[in-house]
This record gives sequence, structure tokens and C-alpha cells, in this order.
Amino acid sequence: MLENAEFWQWLVESRALAGLGLVFGLIVGSFLNVVIHRLPLGESLMFPASRCPACERPIRPWENIPVLGYLFLRGRCAGCGVHISLRYPVIESLVGLLFMAVVLRYGASPMTPVWCVFIAGLVAAAAIDFDHQIIPDGISLGGLVFGLIVVPLVHFWEGIALMDALTFSWLGAAVGGFLLWIVGFLHARLSVALGREFAHWPGEGEELPRPDSLDFWVWFPGLGFGDVKLLAMIGAFVGVIGTFETIFVGSLVGLIFGLVSVCSTRSMGATFGFGPALAMAAIVVVLSPTPLYLLLFR
Ligand SMILES: [Zn+2]
Repeated sequence: MLENAEFWQWLVESRALAGLGLVFGLIVGSFLNVVIHRLPLGESLMFPASRCPACERPIRPWENIPVLGYLFLRGRCAGCGVHISLRYPVIESLVGLLFMAVVLRYGASPMTPVWCVFIAGLVAAAAIDFDHQIIPDGISLGGLVFGLIVVPLVHFWEGIALMDALTFSWLGAAVGGFLLWIVGFLHARLSVALGREFAHWPGEGEELPRPDSLDFWVWFPGLGFGDVKLLAMIGAFVGVIGTFETIFVGSLVGLIFGLVSVCSTRSMGATFGFGPALAMAAIVVVLSPTPLYLLLFR
């Protein structure tokens, strides 16, 4: 047992574990590229093997090595020379660095692999939301179920009383989901009461939702229900305080996204999801060396 503990201590102190985190993150990032591309299209994540979208040439194993494959190929398909999106090596490097940061922040703790799963889900959700303005339920609801079950068990394993561990995750998810839902719900009802018009809500030729329809409760102008489910998932991992920190940081990030979008497109009507901002904020909350609320309210 002692030898085992010494081994883990050596792994952490020698930074070997951080290196392992980096390599593992690069490989997971490579898989996330497939998830980000295929999941919103409803395609299988396993089959077929990756091909060049232009010439259908199968990607050879060594070309699939994260980042290095892209560098060897100089960003072009070996068959037809078409440009390979810079996004592939960027996502791979990003996840590699994030996993390394998790290891440096949490060491050889039981929560380290849990945070890696969480961050992988957030990166995929942010990229898919950015591309398609949707967050697949497989990520948000799948992550929520994982967070509600696995996070309390791991906290219990770490020595926290089971009721406290369950409360942390279940209350975090409830508060996260409720807060974003109530904002969307009240905004929708107030807008109707004040007679405000929206371009895409309700859709062309559609009636305003009535209280006896599900849409009345979950369909809001300007806020996707995907964001509600995403913040519930985040709450299950980071708890109530972490959820408030995520909303605070996410609002700042969303504001910056909004300003950049208004300046670069010179139009106020630019639409962008709140999802990527929330995902980024949750990653900041997880990796912050000091709990954020101590930095903000000390
Ligand atoms: Zn090609």
C-alpha cells in the first residue's frame, strides 16, 4: 500500500502524470473531433473510419496521430491536397493542455479523471453549439446523469458523507437548470405581455405557445433549452457555488463574445449561443487554483 502511495507521489512530483495527461488529452481530443463532426449529423462515432471529405481517401493510422499527423501532412490531404481544417490540431492541443492542467491542479486525486470527462464533454458541447446552435442531449443529459451518479460516489470515496455528496450534485444541477429556465420563462412571458415581437419566435405562421402545451414551458425566444440542460449538467459537477461562479464568468465571456461579434459583423442582430460561453466558464471554474468566490468576495 505504501509503495503504491509512493509510486503515485513520484508520478505527481516528477510531472510524469502531467505528461500522461497531455498525451491522453491529445488522443481524447482526436476522438472529440469525430464526435463534434458526426454527433450532430446523427452518424456513428465508430464506423466508417475517417476519410478525406474531398477525395474519400482513407486516413492512414500515422496521419491520425494527434497534431503530429497534421504537421507531417502540412495541413493538406496526401491524396488530393485539399486543406485540412486547422481546427483538428487546435482541438487536439486544447484538450491535451486542459487535461494536463487538470492533473497539475488536482494531482492523483479520484476527481482528476472525472474532471477530464467533464471537460471533454464541455469542449464537444461548445464546438457543436458553435457550429449548429444545438447541444446534443447525449452530451448535456448524458453528462447530467453521469454527474448526478458518479460525482457523489467519487466524493463519498474521498471521505465526504454520502448525503452531503448527493446534495452537492443534485442541488447544483437543480439550481443550474432552474436559474436559466426561469430567466427564459419570465423573459418569454414578459415579452408576450409587453407585445414585443421576435423574428424567429414563434416561427412563421405559428401561434404563441399556450400554457397547456409543452412549448409554453420550454420554448423561449433567444435562449435554447440546450443551455438550460447544459447548466444543469455543469451544476451536477461543480455544485451550487460553482454554478453561480459559472454564470458570473459565463456572462462576462458572453458579453465579450457579443461585443466581438457586433464589432466584426457590424450588426446588432448577430446570433450566437450562450452554450460556448457557459462551457468556457465552467472550465475556468474547475481549473481556477483558488475557488473563484474567494477571489471575488474576499
Ligand atoms: Zn483528399
